[in-house]
Amino acid sequence: MHEECGVIAVYRPMGAAELVHRGLFALQHRGQEAAGICGVGEDNELLHYKGRGLVAEALPTYEVKRLQTDRAIGHVRYSTVAADRTENIQPFVATTPFGRFAVAHNGNLKNTAEITQDLEEHGALLSTTMDTELLVHLLALSGEATIEEGLRAVAGKVQGAYSLTMICDGRLLCLRDPHGVRPLVLGAGPEDTTGDRVLAVASETAALKRMGLQYIREIAPGELVEIGPEGIQSTQLLKPSTPGPCVFELVYFARPDSTVFGQGVHSARTRMGAELSVQDTARLNNETSLETIVVPVPDSGFPAAIGYAQQSGVKLEQAIIRSHYVGRTFILPDQDSRTHSVHMKLSVIEEVVHGKRVVLVDDSIVRGNTSRIIVDMVRAAGAAEVWMRIASPPLAWPCYLGIDTPTRGELAVNRLGSAEGVRDWIGADDLRYLDLDRLKNATLNEAFCFGCMSGNYPV
Ligand code: AMP
Repeated sequence: MHEECGVIAVYRPMGAAELVHRGLFALQHRGQEAAGICGVGEDNELLHYKGRGLVAEALPTYEVKRLQTDRAIGHVRYSTVAADRTENIQPFVATTPFGRFAVAHNGNLKNTAEITQDLEEHGALLSTTMDTELLVHLLALSGEATIEEGLRAVAGKVQGAYSLTMICDGRLLCLRDPHGVRPLVLGAGPEDTTGDRVLAVASETAALKRMGLQYIREIAPGELVEIGPEGIQSTQLLKPSTPGPCVFELVYFARPDSTVFGQGVHSARTRMGAELSVQDTARLNNETSLETIVVPVPDSGFPAAIGYAQQSGVKLEQAIIRSHYVGRTFILPDQDSRTHSVHMKLSVIEEVVHGKRVVLVDDSIVRGNTSRIIVDMVRAAGAAEVWMRIASPPLAWPCYLGIDTPTRGELAVNRLGSAEGVRDWIGADDLRYLDLDRLKNATLNEAFCFGCMSGNYPV
């Protein structure tokens, strides 16, 4: 099962659920199929509300207002259609030996089959198909005396990616896996007259910004953070392991106005575009009578196209316009609706591309369908030559750690055998991917997980 998600936790003396709600809007790109909020009520009982669809549909303001609490967590969810079931909407809520427990999870666990088998053999009745539920069962069965020890025991059993926001017996706890695969950041508001301040943890800084909070720092791999009236409590609960933050967060997934893994996402993408253009120096210097323009594929190709144009001096043109009024129907995660959505969403300005060499810049090619349709549209609009430039290396391996990717055989470069096969299929005159070493330069040579490009995963 594939999931891409966003998580939040907020401590706010009044109106924590409302603030989570606001933050979830800024994480909408991480999941559009369902959303939920869970807060702490009287006697540490849990108050929750979940729904399907975008945050605005799933969580009506009047329902959120009824969750009166000073501590809350929230989640947005994306999954494949098969797993888009109501019981899978998070936060997941249960009763454990440590008290009432709620969890919102971003990331995927890897060894789910063996854990599921083990749990079922021991009589567990799993009520969802989520790997998150496995975490809760393991926690409940850990036999440890404290939630901290319980979480440590669970971490010893599971492999994979987990950025978690949790409520346990009224406490707000946040944990990042030892590899730090998915991002998780900490933020705060100003102190009030009593010295109290709003504190939050979220997948991305864009959510902190939306909640009116300042970014303090990343939660470290393996770190457990508690937020509440006593401020920020931090414990290095798990030993950090081979680092493995997901480079694809920087390539595509995170918002460009976020800082994740300590890097501004927009700047990282701009550097990827600049590196792409350096690869093209010789090609661009070849004599041609054609006027050359750089055109971003909206929206995700923009920062890289800007970097490409700035570095190469080739003129940047917004020749592809994206409609922002195409509704949610068109972001369902199946292939038919994705293909349809490209035609519904994008339109090429003929007078900008006519008779020119158009260098299209996009962040990645997954199945290749988007590129194929766009190249076709640009050519139909009268471009003389169409180049496709991709700000990441070919994606040849599935992600097991929380990015929705198709099977190996469906990935364009595998299905079509080579980059040349992809070029031919998408119908471009020229196709170039960013070299892995150049992606490493652009991401400042930090130790990332490049699993989807190299097949080497941290777990
Ligand atoms: P395609 O090659 O047609 O499968 O689509 C590639 C485009 O989809 C990329 O240019 C990205 O903008 C976007 N994309 C990349 N990865 C994902 C993903 N995991 N989920 C949804 N969209 C993605």
